[in-house]
Amino acid sequence: MAELPEAPTPTLTAIYADYEARQGDGFRDHLGASIIGKSCARALWYDFRWITPARHSGRLLRLFETGQLEEDRLVRNLRATGATVLEVDPETGLQFRVEAHCGHFGGSLDGVALGLLEAPKTWHVLEFKTHSVKSYNELTAKGVVLAKPQHVAQMQIYMHLTGITRALYVAVCKDTDALHIERIEADPAMAERLLDKAGRVIFAQHPPARISEDPAWFECRFCDHHAACHEGGGAAVPCARAPARSGRASRCRPSRPRPPAGR
Ligand code: SF4
Repeated sequence: MAELPEAPTPTLTAIYADYEARQGDGFRDHLGASIIGKSCARALWYDFRWITPARHSGRLLRLFETGQLEEDRLVRNLRATGATVLEVDPETGLQFRVEAHCGHFGGSLDGVALGLLEAPKTWHVLEFKTHSVKSYNELTAKGVVLAKPQHVAQMQIYMHLTGITRALYVAVCKDTDALHIERIEADPAMAERLLDKAGRVIFAQHPPARISEDPAWFECRFCDHHAACHEGGGAAVPCARAPARSGRASRCRPSRPRPPAGR
């Protein structure tokens, strides 16, 4: 009898390879609301201009999928409390989507909910996130505003562009399955600042200043664009998809989706 192969087995390798083969280049056709809270505008500019293809390991891609699969369960959990949860716009059958800056900026909501026990008459934007135990512990200790400003920025944009005034942040600890839930109030001034930031990134013809000139700075060490930024120089990168300077942010006002009936 043939000897059993040592780990990683051919089956495991094939499973991860399947994820890797299906991942594409990771480029989006817009600047995503989910990342507008990043602290480095230059990193956003690189994201928007498709400077660094995002390639992830099969294991990591499967982990991302775990986050997506969790969403169905969280919707079931919320409905079990008596809430009405819409994952898609009933009129289109598609996710609720918001856009601004002529479609160059936007994002898709995890859902909207009415009938939450805390505020039954108020529609809430839903944002679901999975966390490692370390991240989850920081979240429960500090609250989402301090622990996850990028997630707060995302929710502020969604509230602002839908006209919904509250968001429900539902976090899951991947290690223990514990849940953390917080309600967030709309802050129109913050949302406007974020929209302005998006416009500056989208319509800039040259990369914004670095958050640090030190390649060893902690945010740079974990940045996907480290090589392009610190080793490739700061020249503008030609990009056919970049919006022309004439399409100034001020001319591209947000397009608001219709909020759910009864809001
Ligand atoms: S390497 Fe640092 S300065 Fe450059 S884009 Fe990334 S975070 Fe910003």
